[in-house]
Amino acid sequence: MVRVLVAAPIHGRAIDLLRSTGFEVVVHEYPGEDELVGLIRGFDALIVRSKPLVSRRVIMAADRLRVIGRAGVGLDNIDVDAAREKGIVVYNAPAAPTQSVAEHTIGLMLAVLRRIAYADRSLRRGRWVKKECMGYELHGKTLGVIGMGRIGTAVARIAHHGFGMKIIYYDIRRCPKEVEEELEARCTNLETLLREADVVTIHVPLLPQTKHLINEDRLRLMKRTAILINTARGGVVDTEALVKALSEGWIAGAGLDVYEEEPLPKDHPLTKLDNVVLTPHIGANTVEAQERAGIEIAKKIIEFFKSK
Ligand code: NAD
Repeated sequence: MVRVLVAAPIHGRAIDLLRSTGFEVVVHEYPGEDELVGLIRGFDALIVRSKPLVSRRVIMAADRLRVIGRAGVGLDNIDVDAAREKGIVVYNAPAAPTQSVAEHTIGLMLAVLRRIAYADRSLRRGRWVKKECMGYELHGKTLGVIGMGRIGTAVARIAHHGFGMKIIYYDIRRCPKEVEEELEARCTNLETLLREADVVTIHVPLLPQTKHLINEDRLRLMKRTAILINTARGGVVDTEALVKALSEGWIAGAGLDVYEEEPLPKDHPLTKLDNVVLTPHIGANTVEAQERAGIEIAKKIIEFFKSK
C-alpha cells in the first residue's frame, strides 16, 4: 500500500481523494527537521507547503520515498538537488494561486489609488480625512504588466474587461497572439512601459536576471502620478530605492505583498509611509487557492503511483 505523509495542513478534499484511492494517509503537521528525519522512513510520498523544511538530511534519511508534493508554488524549502540525486520526483501546483494573486493585485491597486487603508486607519483615530482622500479611477488608465505569464495575464484580463484599462506589457517571451488580441495588449520594452504606465504591476519570478529589475534609474522613469504594485517577489524591487521614490514623490504610491526581507521588520521605513499599502504575502491565501493546490498535488501523486 502507498503510504503518504502529509506534513502541512492541506485541504480535506485532497486527503479524502488520497484515502479513497486506497492510499494510507498519515497527517503530522509541521514537524521540525529532526522530527521529520525520524518520521520519513516507511513513507512513499510526502506532501508539504512552504514548510516544513525538507533538507538533504531528511531526504537522505528516507528509505522508500518516491515523490514529494508541494501544495503550492515555491520550492525554497525543499532540497531539490538532493531529491534528484535519489531519483525522487518533486511536484508543485504552479497554477493553483493564479486567480487569487490576480484578485489581490487588483485589490492593492484600488487600495492605493483610493487610499482605502489610509482612510481606514485615520477614521479609527477619529479623523474624517475626506479631503486628503481624493483618488483616481482605474478606468481608461494604462496598466503596465511586467511578466505576462499566468498571473500577469489574469491581472490584465480583470483590468481590461472589468475596468476598461489599456494594457501594455514587457516579457522576454511574447504572449500568444489571441491573448494580445483579446486584451488589445501591446508588447513593449521595459523603459517604455515604465514611462507610459499609470499602474505598473510586477509578475516575473525572482531570478538573477530579475533581481532589482526595478531599481533607482527605472523608478525615475515612472510618471509622478503612477503607482507600483508588487505581488511577485520582494527581490525584484530595490527596496531602498523604492522608499526614496515614495518619500521624495518620484511616484505616487505602491502596493506590496512581498518584501526582500520577510516578515517585514516592524519598524521598516515602508511602514512609515502613508502612500504605500502593505500586506503580509497573502496573495495566494484563499480557501479556493489552497483547495486547488491540495487537489492538484493529490492528483499528481495518485497519477504517479498508478503509472508505475
Ligand atoms: P509564470 O511563470 O506563469 O510567469 C512569469 C512570466 O515572467 C513569464 O511569462 C516569463 O516569460 C516572464 N519572465 C521571466 N523572466 C523574465 C525577465 N527576465 N524579464 C521579463 N519577463 C520575464 O509565473 P506566475 O505563476 O505568473 O507567477 C509570477 C510571480 O508571482 C512569481 O514571482 C511568483 O513567485 C509570484 N507569486 C506570488 C504569490 C503571492 O502569494 N504573492 C503567489 C504565487 C506566485
